[in-house]
Amino acid sequence: MTRAVVTGANRGIGLALADHLRHAGHAVTGTARDGSADAVLDVTDPRSVAGFAAGLGGCAVDLLVCNAGIYADKRQGLDDGYPAPMWAEGFAVNVTGVFLTIQALLPNLRKAAAVGGGARIAVISSQMASQATAPGGSYIYRASKAAVLNLGRNLAADLAPEGIAVGIYHPGWVRTDMGGGGADIDADEAAAGLAARFAALTVETTGCFETWDGRAHPL
Ligand code: NDP
Repeated sequence: MTRAVVTGANRGIGLALADHLRHAGHAVTGTARDGSADAVLDVTDPRSVAGFAAGLGGCAVDLLVCNAGIYADKRQGLDDGYPAPMWAEGFAVNVTGVFLTIQALLPNLRKAAAVGGGARIAVISSQMASQATAPGGSYIYRASKAAVLNLGRNLAADLAPEGIAVGIYHPGWVRTDMGGGGADIDADEAAAGLAARFAALTVETTGCFETWDGRAHPL
């Protein structure tokens, strides 16, 4: 049995992913800030990250899904919105939190990679990270998701020699608290598609930026 860790697993895409991976036979540790999943983790708090990593007790982690994220600047006006603390929060969750989580779990990922099957890190970014399409607005969200796309691709280069692959994903426009009721797909559909992408991720495809349904997304 393989071990998967999913951050932000108490609702939305993270909850659906944790359920999907569990039904597919993985041992899953889902995290939540408030203790409503298997383990407590606030990705913005280094002590919480360290405590979560310690709680894994050195077990091998085959798949780490960095899913937790916020859309800090929904409906901000260019002239009167975007206060500095909003920028800080958006980047703390969507970028720094992803890095700190990956860094803290490297020993666990290395342990999985060492037994030969390789290990995988899935970074949930967004199509809004793309430089190819820049329609304006949502500056904090777009910039933070672009940053985490860049982070994932650079980690991919560093970790490939160790047998750890990193994929970056757009999960679709998904009906969650963040995506809203008018979005294209539900969280279960997104989770099924993403899980298939994670299973296909190898050191040969590391650094890929893909959609939930398997299309390469323009950077
Ligand atoms: P939701 O808003 O429904 O859920 C977000 C999750 O992230 C919650 O579990 C939330 O926990 C968690 N979270 C937020 N801040 C922190 C933190 N500091 N530490 C730990 N966990 C935290 O979002 P979605 O499920 O829709 O989105 C999941 C991912 O997919 C995000 O990264 C998002 O940017 C991305 N995405 C979503 C799209 C969509 O259409 N829905 C489209 C493109 C990308 P809590 O309940 O405590 O707030």
